[in-house]
Amino acid sequence: MNRLSESVWAPDEGLTEVEASIQEISHRFAEDVMRPAGVALDRMQPEQVIAEGSPLWDVFGQYRELGLDLVEIAEGMSPLELSRVSYLVHEEMGWGDCGLGWSLYASGMAQGMIRAMGRDDLWELCPPDAISMWSITEPSHGTDMLDFSHNLSAASLGGARSDCVVTRRGGKLIIQGQKSAWGTNGSIAQVSALFCRYDDGSGQPKRAAFIVPLDLPGISRGKPLDKLGVRALSDAELYFDEVEIPASCMLCPPEAYDELVKGIIVGANPGMAIFCVGLARAAFESALQYAKERIQGGRPIFEYQAVQLKLFDMYRKIQAARALIRGTMEDHAQYPPRLENAVSSKVTGTQLALEVTNQAFDIFGGNATSKEYPIEKMLRDARMGTIADGTNDVLSLVAVSSRF
Ligand SMILES: Cc1cc2nc3c(=O)[nH]c(=O)nc-3n(C[C@H](O)[C@H](O)[C@H](O)COP(=O)(O)OP(=O)(O)OC[C@H]3O[C@@H](n4cnc5c(N)ncnc54)[C@H](O)[C@@H]3O)c2cc1C
Repeated sequence: MNRLSESVWAPDEGLTEVEASIQEISHRFAEDVMRPAGVALDRMQPEQVIAEGSPLWDVFGQYRELGLDLVEIAEGMSPLELSRVSYLVHEEMGWGDCGLGWSLYASGMAQGMIRAMGRDDLWELCPPDAISMWSITEPSHGTDMLDFSHNLSAASLGGARSDCVVTRRGGKLIIQGQKSAWGTNGSIAQVSALFCRYDDGSGQPKRAAFIVPLDLPGISRGKPLDKLGVRALSDAELYFDEVEIPASCMLCPPEAYDELVKGIIVGANPGMAIFCVGLARAAFESALQYAKERIQGGRPIFEYQAVQLKLFDMYRKIQAARALIRGTMEDHAQYPPRLENAVSSKVTGTQLALEVTNQAFDIFGGNATSKEYPIEKMLRDARMGTIADGTNDVLSLVAVSSRF
């Protein structure tokens, strides 16, 4: 831990020796590898981010080498132990670079689904070390693809027209269409978990999920997206032109589809929230340090009570979000998961990052707007969170309609 973190946050009471050591390894990785790579990648053109020799590949390499995907360590842990470790690792990664954190997290999503569905036969198509992604949203269907409750969308099942359809022809499946430009890792993934409309010839509109290696004939990608924040996270459209896959690629049949989408949202929402807490913590620490160094009116601005009040408000909100998200993850590891708490975590964590980076921006004054300081990037990164993984409004409405 750096000195500042230690003085403000530590000691993290109640951590076991193993947890403290994993937290320390994660923080080193975040500080020495993710933070500098994130800043460099933020300034690159999207094509440069994924080019050979880009710092992105070193980040992926070291993440796997250090075992921070937690796959190996998970084998010897109870679900509760794993949830605690997972919280610690992901907060540190969000502190290092939120966009890289999301990208690394998403790179194991298809594998996570294969494990969850108990489909060992799919490892051949999706090796444990492949970079994977989750493709669900489409150009014409963002929100409605994530509305597994079917309570919000005027026309369920992605509306009358779907941009991407898998059709059964005999023993084979044919994919036709495209997925949105927002799929995390869309430009670098080797395998996708593809969630889309499924036409089994019955004439009934259905959806299903499939594991699709992305080097098959007929698959192409759009240009990596040039976007406001989390620029180290590379995304791009996927195009499918009469792509043939065996019927065994079906990960989840129509009858279990909505439950799977719900399960992913319940798991990924607190996950995304933790990264945002890490980002908010980074903004708070930068603002505190700056406030102690910046002299105005003959004193460090930290001595002005208006600045102290802002800093304490940031600290208070970070601690509240930490408690909510940690509690939700620990509960989910022991009891049936609660959608409303998963969504509360995501909304709180992403809103927190936005508010805290904005407050830090004010403390940095004019310097906040300069790329020489870290805050403008943090604010741009935070802006993405309320939309990714379902907009906060839509997730909240799904939670209300399903649970209240
Ligand atoms: C950083 C990032 C990462 C992402 N990663 C992935 C990924 O890995 N895989 C993937 O498939 N997608 C991904 N997405 C896409 C993301 O899930 C969608 O952008 C999101 O679900 C919103 O869909 P949309 O952009 O089409 O907005 P729209 O659905 O067009 O919504 C636009 C606005 O209308 C509101 N709205 C729409 N319908 C309703 C309704 N019924 N009730 C109330 N309000 C409504 C929304 O809240 C929003 O404010 C990512 C997006 C971002 C920004």
